[in-house]
Amino acid sequence: MRYQLVADAYEKIEGTTKRLEMTDLLVDLLKKTPKELIDKIVYLTQGKLYPDFMGVEIGVAEKLAVRAVAKATGRGEKEILDDLKKTGDLGETAQKFLEKRLQALLFYKPLTVEVVYQTLDKMAKASGPGSMDQKINLLTGLLTNATPKEAKYIIRTVTGKLRLGIADMTVLDALAIAYGGGKEARAELERAYNISSDLGKVARVLVESGLEGIRKFKVSLGEPIRPMLAERLSSPEEILEKLGGKCIAEYKYDGERIQAHKDGSRVILFSRRLENITGQYPDAVELIRNHLKPEKAIIEAECVAVDPDTGEMRPFQELMHRRRKYGIKEAIEEYPVSLFAFDVLYVDGKDLTLEPYPIRHEFLEKIVEEGDRFKIAHYLITDNPEELERFFQEAIENGCEGLVCKAVSEDSIYQAGARGWLWIKYKRDYKSEMTDTVDLVVVGAFHGRGKRAGTYGALLLAAYNKENDTFETVCKCGSGFTDEDLKKIPEMMKPHEIAHRHPRVNSALEADVWFEPKVVIEVIGAEITLSPTHTCAMDRIRKGSGLAIRFPRFTGNYRLDKAPEDATTVDEILEMYKGQLKSIEAS
Ligand code: ATP
Repeated sequence: MRYQLVADAYEKIEGTTKRLEMTDLLVDLLKKTPKELIDKIVYLTQGKLYPDFMGVEIGVAEKLAVRAVAKATGRGEKEILDDLKKTGDLGETAQKFLEKRLQALLFYKPLTVEVVYQTLDKMAKASGPGSMDQKINLLTGLLTNATPKEAKYIIRTVTGKLRLGIADMTVLDALAIAYGGGKEARAELERAYNISSDLGKVARVLVESGLEGIRKFKVSLGEPIRPMLAERLSSPEEILEKLGGKCIAEYKYDGERIQAHKDGSRVILFSRRLENITGQYPDAVELIRNHLKPEKAIIEAECVAVDPDTGEMRPFQELMHRRRKYGIKEAIEEYPVSLFAFDVLYVDGKDLTLEPYPIRHEFLEKIVEEGDRFKIAHYLITDNPEELERFFQEAIENGCEGLVCKAVSEDSIYQAGARGWLWIKYKRDYKSEMTDTVDLVVVGAFHGRGKRAGTYGALLLAAYNKENDTFETVCKCGSGFTDEDLKKIPEMMKPHEIAHRHPRVNSALEADVWFEPKVVIEVIGAEITLSPTHTCAMDRIRKGSGLAIRFPRFTGNYRLDKAPEDATTVDEILEMYKGQLKSIEAS
């Protein structure tokens, strides 16, 4: 197939902004394409050589492409660059200079799609020393044989600037019309695409085996499934109504979504955008290997940054330190992650995407062996809006973004590639910041594990209630302590240890060790939130809820100058909470 046909089609497609016209033009091109080239044409029209998840990019820097254009046209690089300044498009510049290059037509050897694709593929895969020159030579070779119009599109393709505006759905429409017997075939093609993320493969199977072949499309290990996404509502009543009165509510962890494909000891991790991010998370790979029982499986999980000492969840921003290519080993130690599995799509040859969620969840419980750093997403099955609200508050307090409430009906399949009402997220409408530190009383402690074995993992902290002369808990704090603090605190607290909760302490949590309220420490948090677990200001804002400090961190200040009655009061915390709300309303 002559590449000129492709360039002509691109030119026409570029000339329209109407989607229907664009589809028709693409249909024409696909019909002219020989069977064996159909996948390549599909990739090329989107400026690619392979599906995105393969991670192969042609990626030629503009600077290199300028050199190739100069060589192919016999001009100086400066001349090309000057013109590029005027056009702002190296494709156009290349076209212009090739039009002026008449003598080269003597050697003109028409370009075929096969040759263009193979050459681009070689360029994409060239690596190591000398690869720059190799790329320039390959590109120069193509340009030497290209017509001016072909050169324009080749240059745009290699520099990542093709941008014809052909969306995935337009390709599916065009394929349905060209080879599926009409637009109605689109739904079946779309499903095939949603479970394979590979438009080229969909095109190839359609052309080779028709809709029959498309219907046989299966979830495959190594090919990411396009993610199911959630709609959003802002009250538990609305959510339950929309989900038929009942749902599985799960913590919405604030991390990075991961689709893990396990095939024996081989594990691939895909991001929400279906990029292969296996190299970024060797620790998550290990967790998948160790905690997923089946030989072959595909699961989805949220990957969350955790405090290396306490295992508590850390804010999303900390996970961003893991977005790097180098120094991964150090980053793993400094910013370790936990996985929270929330769906399973495939187990040992069985595609589960069309099973209702309760069945998938049952599978998940069977195939996951939970551990400290690998858990199934914390969930609650409920039909009660108040219970749902409490669960929501608890999720926020524990460092999550809110909840994802999931349908449990017969039709609650995994809707690959779709944002629909089978999943509804419940997040807060506001985000606030705590700017002031607070001084809190140490009333209890929890034993540490791992690196913190033998000392405390977290302290239970309380604010002072002046009216009742009691101490009401407001957070569990495990962050901000140095090794020295960790040694010192048990010694410091020893004289205050008592066998049970102190009568002046009001706590719904059961601590491992209780203290007489004596010692005051300074703490800063991310914000103050409603809480079903802490007793501070219980029922004062909302019935059944207290207030808690989210992401609390010890500042390093022991307030030995303060008596417990001088600690931050419950009323102050209440005012801080109300202040936060006011500043949100004002903004
Ligand atoms: P957001 O920015 O709100 O996360 P989004 O467009 O990335 O939105 P949505 O589908 O709207 O994604 O919300 C669900 C997202 O929440 C998932 O993509 C996933 O990363 C994350 N998540 C965390 N915990 C869960 C869970 N238990 N179930 C499903 N998704 C979860």
